[in-house]
Amino acid sequence: MVRPKDRTHSKKSKRQRTPGGKLKVYKMPRKKTVRLSCANCGKPVHGTKIKGSSKTEKRPSRKFPELCAKCSKSKILNIALEA
Ligand SMILES: [Zn+2]
Repeated sequence: MVRPKDRTHSKKSKRQRTPGGKLKVYKMPRKKTVRLSCANCGKPVHGTKIKGSSKTEKRPSRKFPELCAKCSKSKILNIALEA
């Protein structure tokens, strides 16, 4: 019996033989594609990966990691012009 949430082709399936000798199809859980979004404009930040990866892949190793490249550039320029 296939559960209603598993009646889809967007999930990866895995065939596995049970101890009773029957072949059963297991559906793998969906991977969530959550990316870090810019704090200023909301666009996805480049160089960041899917949630659940290592800490260095979750955020870029530059100044203002919470901002995208465009917003961080304008912020650095604003700081430089004010000083
Ligand atoms: Zn931005």
